[in-house]
Amino acid sequence: MKLEPYSMGIGDRFARQGKAQLQAFVMAREEGVEVTPSWNKSNREHTIIRSSPADVRQEADAAVQALKWRGAYRVDADHISLKTVDAFIAASDFFTLDVADFTGRGANPDAIAAFVGRHAALAGPIRVPGLAAPVQVGREQVRAIAAKHLLAVQEAGKIYRHIESRKGPDRFVTEVSLDETDRPQTPVEMLFILAAIADEEIPVQTIAPKFTGRFNKGVDYVGDAAQFAREFEDDLRVIAFAVKEFGLPAGLKLSVHSGSDKFSLYEPIRKAIRKHKAGLHLKTAGTTWLEELIGLAEAGGDGLQLAKEIYRSAHGRFDELCGPYAAVIDINRRKLPAPAEVNRWTGARYVKALRHDPSCKEFNPNFRQLLHVGYKVAAELGPRYLQALDASAEVIGRNVTENVYSRHLRMVFG
Ligand SMILES: [Zn+2]
Repeated sequence: MKLEPYSMGIGDRFARQGKAQLQAFVMAREEGVEVTPSWNKSNREHTIIRSSPADVRQEADAAVQALKWRGAYRVDADHISLKTVDAFIAASDFFTLDVADFTGRGANPDAIAAFVGRHAALAGPIRVPGLAAPVQVGREQVRAIAAKHLLAVQEAGKIYRHIESRKGPDRFVTEVSLDETDRPQTPVEMLFILAAIADEEIPVQTIAPKFTGRFNKGVDYVGDAAQFAREFEDDLRVIAFAVKEFGLPAGLKLSVHSGSDKFSLYEPIRKAIRKHKAGLHLKTAGTTWLEELIGLAEAGGDGLQLAKEIYRSAHGRFDELCGPYAAVIDINRRKLPAPAEVNRWTGARYVKALRHDPSCKEFNPNFRQLLHVGYKVAAELGPRYLQALDASAEVIGRNVTENVYSRHLRMVFG
């Protein structure tokens, strides 16, 4: 099963917006921009929402049917491990193997030595076409990279073979993700990680490295965009080289996680994938839920009251909600509006603070990030929240579609 060159992961915490999300892909397609939607949800999200992978499959199939979408689409078991994968096997046809926890843990010394021996030819100057200088890697550096990454790739091999034994070969797309680690991987590390993936015979179609800079949830990139652009292009060159050198799948492409709202990176990414004729998987997840809040606030009345209530509750549970996401959010608590102040806001004012429009002076990234991780509060409201979504389905759907279409698909792939 081959993933198309352009694909975008979309998340939908409460499984109500599948059609509104897909509508954005329909609009892009009408403009000649072909992007494969992939509905992704991680085990962590399922646990918090109390949903199951079958719900995601159902939502995707229903949206595809309702909109008569004839393109490809996927259901992504996001960030799964050997411990969590089983519940996802039947419903998913895209698996993001998360082996970040195994990074930095030493593999068996014999395996490391064998790896260094096998790829000794790569030690020394390697000419990756397009890279500014030949890659100079000594045996010691190869050994160090293997010591850091080999165990993780071996684990990916175990997960891959486990899924393959259940689903059969070529029945699903495989992604390897290393993004939830503390340090970015350099293009040289990427080269040897790909060598190890080829050794494990994982037919990897997308790889998600950790890039330089901060990819906070639901807000723009924080870091040096020019440096990101250089690394991103070098990664593309390394991938093209590795595909030939190691016989990896021809369409292998980069996957950018926490990819929503990274407005300052979209133009460099767009240019780079065109220049290198490369594909891209852009993974987003949680911003559709923020569009639900925006729609509720815009609807006014009970919807607005509920949006305010959710903020008040999230504000009071700051540590609990932010804890699990500490590595991927940056909230300045002093810049959070007091719940009493938010209570006096009109719907329009709430929307201005929340919607990601950097040119709007009322936009508050702290407010936005807190609500981003606050979906647990809405999950606990259960049917009350879902009924509010249904009551304002139209205005919410409009915001969901607009967000996916204008602020993502068009900017990255258009
Ligand atoms: Zn990720």
